[in-house]
Amino acid sequence: MDEILVTRSSMPSIEEYTDEIKELWDSHWLTNMGVKHKQLQKELEELTGAEHVALYCNGHLALENILEALQLPKGGEIITSPFTFASTTHAIIRCGFEPVFCDIDPVTFTIDTDKIEDLITDRTVAILPVHVYGNICDVEKIDEIAKKHGLKVIYDAAHAFAVSYKGKNSACFGDASMFSFHATKVFNTIEGGAVCYHDDSLEQRLKDLKNFGIHGPEEVAYVGGNAKMNEFCAAMGICNLRHLDEEIEKRGHVVARYKELLGGVKGLYICPEQKDVTPNHAYFPVVFDKEEFGADRDEVFAKLEENNIFARKYFYPITTAFDCYKGRFDPAETPVALDISNRVLTLPIYADLALETVDTICEIILSLAKRR
Ligand SMILES: *Cc1c(COP(=O)(O)O)cnc(C)c1O
Repeated sequence: MDEILVTRSSMPSIEEYTDEIKELWDSHWLTNMGVKHKQLQKELEELTGAEHVALYCNGHLALENILEALQLPKGGEIITSPFTFASTTHAIIRCGFEPVFCDIDPVTFTIDTDKIEDLITDRTVAILPVHVYGNICDVEKIDEIAKKHGLKVIYDAAHAFAVSYKGKNSACFGDASMFSFHATKVFNTIEGGAVCYHDDSLEQRLKDLKNFGIHGPEEVAYVGGNAKMNEFCAAMGICNLRHLDEEIEKRGHVVARYKELLGGVKGLYICPEQKDVTPNHAYFPVVFDKEEFGADRDEVFAKLEENNIFARKYFYPITTAFDCYKGRFDPAETPVALDISNRVLTLPIYADLALETVDTICEIILSLAKRR
């Protein structure tokens, strides 16, 4: 069998993309907030219902920029989840804050809101939860805690593009939400990202921060970096956005097939559908219980690999167990996150993944079960 990777980037036809970028050859305007950038920004504002969308060259710098733009006291503590991609924890530290790790809920793997308040001190400045795998955090409870303690809320919504909760887009919760439009995400601009927010006063600061802090031709207001989205990436986004609904629908068929074949198998845990949530089917994580199932995560991973199928141990290790943080954090302080990270595997999923391939993947997995 040909190699099956965990994901495969969505792309428009080459004709659609070349049509989209043709006018760049007339204008010679390749970056710095050109027509494609403006168009994609507007389309995303319409799609998400967010009052403001700021586009970035990637999601990570979008997150660093919003952390800067909120002008929170440096050295302040930010309560977050270690069950996430490296970016979330790194952004907090690179921006001069101290991450404080809260454990995750064993059902959705998002931050456990019952454990947040115990972690709040007089140095806490914000909460940075992650809508992990596209599962929406308990946004109501988080909002309530943040209001009570006067904290900012910034969501890492990298996985949750186009997900809505009670009819409200994931871009509209908290003070701001960061999205990633990396090639591997549900919606991509090759590389790219965005911050969605509602406070008007952040608009100019975010604009300046992503362009070296340059406020005007003769005025540099901040020690900013360079994080602008270029015209070619924006054009890719405009094309991919046209096919978004169809892509998500196709992913939904893949998820349905996985659930049909793996749902209810003893020793396999699959996240339940969340009430009032319209999903984007970004990932398909499965948690293995060796005693019940008959094989552990690493055995399943290896068996799939033997068959040229490359699942991902996503998220393993948790960020507090990274080599670069050795001795600084204790992974055992978030036992649920630690346990899930040792047992989770995300299976291949993308819009064009053939259902027969899903059948093959499930057959290989089930061949390891002690009973079927
Ligand atoms: C992908 C991802 C990011 C970073 O996004 P980039 O666009 O790759 O910089 C941040 N957080 C999470 C949870 C992600 O999955």
